[in-house]
Amino acid sequence: MPVEHAAIIGAGISGLTAALALSRRGISSEIFEQAGELTDVGAGLQVSPNASRILAEFSILEGLSKVWLEPDAIRLISGSSLRQLAAVPAGKFARERWGAPYGVLHRTTLQKALLAAVTADPLCRLHLGVRMDTTLPPFERAADVVIGADGVWSKLRQSVVGSPSPRFSGNIAYRFTIPENEAPSFLDRASVSAFLGGSAHLVCYPLRETGSFNMVAITAGNIAPQAWQSEPTAEQRAQLRARLSGWNAAIVSLLEKHRKLTFWPLFETTSGAWQDGRKTVLIGDAAHAMMPFAAQGAAMAIEDAYELAAFLSNRPVAEALALFERHRAPRIAKLRQRGAFNRFAYHAKGPIRIGRDLVLGLKPPLSLAADLDWIYGYRAADLP
Ligand SMILES: Cc1cc2nc3c(=O)[nH]c(=O)nc-3n(C[C@H](O)[C@H](O)[C@H](O)COP(=O)(O)OP(=O)(O)OC[C@H]3O[C@@H](n4cnc5c(N)ncnc54)[C@H](O)[C@@H]3O)c2cc1C
Repeated sequence: MPVEHAAIIGAGISGLTAALALSRRGISSEIFEQAGELTDVGAGLQVSPNASRILAEFSILEGLSKVWLEPDAIRLISGSSLRQLAAVPAGKFARERWGAPYGVLHRTTLQKALLAAVTADPLCRLHLGVRMDTTLPPFERAADVVIGADGVWSKLRQSVVGSPSPRFSGNIAYRFTIPENEAPSFLDRASVSAFLGGSAHLVCYPLRETGSFNMVAITAGNIAPQAWQSEPTAEQRAQLRARLSGWNAAIVSLLEKHRKLTFWPLFETTSGAWQDGRKTVLIGDAAHAMMPFAAQGAAMAIEDAYELAAFLSNRPVAEALALFERHRAPRIAKLRQRGAFNRFAYHAKGPIRIGRDLVLGLKPPLSLAADLDWIYGYRAADLP
């Protein structure tokens, strides 16, 4: 029997994208979101061409392109000498090579654009302030498929035997912002800069919507179980300071100066089943929360949502869900591997760091770009 109606738990990037993707296939949906309103959550987001290509299908890319920044390059820079080690070209090059733009924006900008499209779509119905606990929320109409887009702490996971569980990754993000007019000159206003140093890296890029730099330092660290976003304690600040030993004084003082740091322990999920063989499926962070070392979590959520809708459009639900999982799992596994490799390379120390810098220095920009073709050049199922 063809799928006609879906229930979606969670109105984050994966849930909203799923509603839009299903609607394009003529499938209606009800989305249940625990928050009473969708407010400014999260930080900056890099949207790579594999994801922006999908956003174009919902006619929201044009609006985003007007407010976001298309960085001219993704630069890898030494955290001690501030010397550029390598740069992947982006901007016009990204549009030409990967057929869609690479943009950076505030996560809220993307979520609001998706939300506006969902609200305007007669096949999508959003219920705010409805939290799923141990049972599913009451649907207005019986759902043929139930989609868990409820993030790393997913409740719907309990309906899928052998589903992944969340675990602390051993990494902590410290986030802050700097008004653009106060930013030191070593912060490039036209690109994404990743400063690399032993045990930590710092990603910085300007957010045009807010006139500030989004700054996220990621280090190894410890936390109390279930700790979540908060101001770092004196001890956590000391932990960060220790990780920055040997870093350039200008960067260290930037982090010291910013009293308003957000301490953000990073959780990921173990591998496990994403669907129950009947009508329940997990997507996005609910299925495979990953570390931001390849900046692909939201992009994978968008790809998941789009491809799930494609599979559901022309087969029985159980078959579509099994196919979806089989199709997506190898790509997610490969991305996790890339993330783990990036972590190793970004946080390298001693001789490994010297080797890394040599290798990066020898790689021409085109060869760095070619290494990313499988990620950014990906065309989700059924895309032209
Ligand atoms: C520091 C950092 C930097 C990152 N940078 C990038 C980047 O540059 N590019 C990129 O692609 N990705 C990036 N990511 C990853 C990206 O943010 C996530 O992968 C993505 O937002 C996941 O979206 P989601 O919709 O699956 O989950 P979420 O965004 O977590 O959304 C889940 C939604 O479900 C709702 N919900 C939860 N539980 C319930 C419930 N029981 N009932 C009802 N509703 C519920 C929540 O309120 C929320 O709205 C980064 C992540 C981090 C931590």
